[in-house]
Amino acid sequence: MQVLSVASELFPLIKTGGLADVAGALPLALAAEGMEVATLVPGYPAVLAGLAGAEIVLELADLFGAPARVVRGSAAGLDILAIDAPHLYARPGNPYQSPGGSDWPDNAQRFAALGRVAATLGSGALAGYAPDVLHLHDWQAGLAAAYVRQLGGRAPGVVMTVHNLAFQGLFPAGLLSALWLAPDMFGVNGLEFHGAIGFLKAGLIYADRVTTVSPTYADEIRTPDSGMGLDGVLRARGGDVVGILNGIDTKIWNPETDALIQMPFSRMQLARRAANKAALQQRFGLQADPRRLLCGVVSRLSWQKGLDVLLDALPVVRAHGMQLAVLGSGEPGMEAGFGVAASANAGQVGCVIGYDEGLAHLVQAGADVLLVPSRFEPCGLTQLCALRYGAVPVVSRIGGLADTVIDANAAALAQGVATGVQFAPVSRAGLDQALLRVAGLWRDQAAWRKMQRNGMTMDVSWRKPAAQYAALFRGVRG
Ligand code: ADP
Repeated sequence: MQVLSVASELFPLIKTGGLADVAGALPLALAAEGMEVATLVPGYPAVLAGLAGAEIVLELADLFGAPARVVRGSAAGLDILAIDAPHLYARPGNPYQSPGGSDWPDNAQRFAALGRVAATLGSGALAGYAPDVLHLHDWQAGLAAAYVRQLGGRAPGVVMTVHNLAFQGLFPAGLLSALWLAPDMFGVNGLEFHGAIGFLKAGLIYADRVTTVSPTYADEIRTPDSGMGLDGVLRARGGDVVGILNGIDTKIWNPETDALIQMPFSRMQLARRAANKAALQQRFGLQADPRRLLCGVVSRLSWQKGLDVLLDALPVVRAHGMQLAVLGSGEPGMEAGFGVAASANAGQVGCVIGYDEGLAHLVQAGADVLLVPSRFEPCGLTQLCALRYGAVPVVSRIGGLADTVIDANAAALAQGVATGVQFAPVSRAGLDQALLRVAGLWRDQAAWRKMQRNGMTMDVSWRKPAAQYAALFRGVRG
């Protein structure tokens, strides 16, 4: 069975967040399920430069304003189809924004092109290639579902996966014809969202199935509180909406073989983590002291991630002699906030502003706790890495965080199954309480090691999720 995965980011070629990790890892896991997966991505400079053995496989006379071509090559074991369209993608910056941080003004065309080419490939335009299923990731790929409808003819099954409902891809209605969309699709039962064109909504309406990245988030987004205006659409799809947890690439995230950390370790050699903790303390300018409870953060710095609440909770961190190491980038106010906190609490709070894949591994390997106080979290990957690396996750009880961490309440401790701490609500009081609980748990080092081992024993790989996706794909094949 053949699947065309369609995504705007793909690890290791281009990444701004978890979407890239998923798009890069799931195809490899699906191969073990007997699926042949190719991945369609925009041909940003980093993508075209990273392709091995690239060949032109399709010429397109016009792709929203100029000719384009599809090139096929490989990278990191992935079969990649890239859209070589310099007028859309030959630009610096991340996939969505200029180096100055503003969205490209033609993002509607840039990602409509991704959807259009996906639908074209789905219709069998490439000789010898007829994908059974298009797997669309997030709003950037959403219009593919509409174009599949529109093109008619041979139609693959379409699965839309929502990695984050907050990003909906809304553009002015006036672009309808410029995006080659049929006027009759513009309505409340089509791709219109309150007078705008909704790329994600197109996917939610026209796909055969909708998935999101955890069972709890699948429930949450069907409620007005978390549905971001699309809860009605999602409720109307009934049983077509399912939650499948993400996994992580357990070859890249393997504490026993990780070359990016100071000292590899396994769950039977937890004492070796001390070398990673020492390296982390040094890297973040923290006092070299193995007894201090060291809390780590690896995150985008944004409202979603609740890290403003962590800034508010700093007095508890200070009062209980804990340490904090924050690796992140994002909203300027929050970046500045952590910078100020670090200089005001030298030795106890450290921050590295930026994106650093290697340092993320060291945080997971050296921190005692990984903090994820998100206000909403579709799945979350960093707590899965933390579980695998023996950093005890302290998370808000929402979305995928609720589904992946077993709270150290009295019953779970008695049963010896706890893997971390959950808290609610996401407020200063909620986080203060959680930090105090963690400080209490830390005092019993034997129980702490048990929690670490429990987490490290959990299967956070793609094996199970890939089997679930494969079953879903078999059910919708075109
Ligand atoms: P989101 O996709 O919402 O940002 P996820 O937890 O799903 O959050 O995925 C985030 C991914 O990005 C993880 O792989 C995490 O390790 C990585 N990441 C986030 N911020 C940084 C950073 N500053 N440096 C390195 N890796 C980061």
